[in-house]
Amino acid sequence: MDKLTSCPACNCGDLVDVGLGTNLTSEHIQLIGDTAIWQADYASCPNCELMFARNRQDETETDEYYAAFKVIEKRDYAVYPPPQKFIDAQESFSERFVGRLAEAGLINASMSVLNVRTEYGVHLARLRDVYGVQDVYGLDHFESNIEYAQKDLALKNIELLDPRVADLGFGDLKFDLILANHQLTHALEPMEILARFKNRLKPGGTVVFYNELDHMGIMDLPKTFRRGVISFHKQLLTRNSLENMLKLAGYATSFIDYDPVGIKWASGRHSMVIGGTPAKAIKPDQVSHPGSPSLYDAYEAGLAKHSRIGLLDKAKRLLSGERLSA
Ligand SMILES: [Zn+2]
Repeated sequence: MDKLTSCPACNCGDLVDVGLGTNLTSEHIQLIGDTAIWQADYASCPNCELMFARNRQDETETDEYYAAFKVIEKRDYAVYPPPQKFIDAQESFSERFVGRLAEAGLINASMSVLNVRTEYGVHLARLRDVYGVQDVYGLDHFESNIEYAQKDLALKNIELLDPRVADLGFGDLKFDLILANHQLTHALEPMEILARFKNRLKPGGTVVFYNELDHMGIMDLPKTFRRGVISFHKQLLTRNSLENMLKLAGYATSFIDYDPVGIKWASGRHSMVIGGTPAKAIKPDQVSHPGSPSLYDAYEAGLAKHSRIGLLDKAKRLLSGERLSA
């Protein structure tokens, strides 16, 4: 296990403890085996506002941990062919997502595109079929998605995604556009991954980060305090902490879309799309705090509200138990 002693984004060591658990159950622990990390030991960085798991799977633990990904996150679409409901949701999201990229001037037919966690290649097929982009590449966690992309959508360059994103595949090809799906929320080493993306951009290229959930939305949910946070979410990003992280990693940022509804299969919470182009990295003392309240403030408010509800529930159950036994 790796244990972070400072913020993975700004390196601040003056951390605040956050008393949230993860959604891992004893069944999951059996699946993952002896290397299971049960508690995330969340912390909040008072400097850049990033909330994150201090406990992280090291290189020897990652494969087993991600082998149980399908079960832990109930990814029942990871079969060939994927369920029609999943395809419909993806298509409808893709229409809006790729449409927004086009409006932002990020698409032209002669460009090359890499989609990291491409699912079954839905955006790549749309880029090819609607926008004439031929030079498209994708990586995904699930063999079933890869099979569908290759067989049904005739996308040739689709490969397995390494859970640590240690390798972006395809030799040392560079891309005009990298579409990174939910990568920073899951990243075991976010700053290394951000550097890796930059190294694979052509001059003038852009990385678009999407499906980075705004975790402000989870702090008003009772289940966050009852069931815990999704174990694969190592960074509990907000608009502010995401922007700070990207600037610290040497990206100039601009928000492309902010979806207050989200996509149902991706938890239905606020989903962010942000573009990053290589720029001079800011220093840790140059981070910004435009949002009020911070995620930590929202956590404290949620904790006060929902632990009270939890106590009431417990008291009610106890009372009814007493009545039954009387
Ligand atoms: Zn920080």
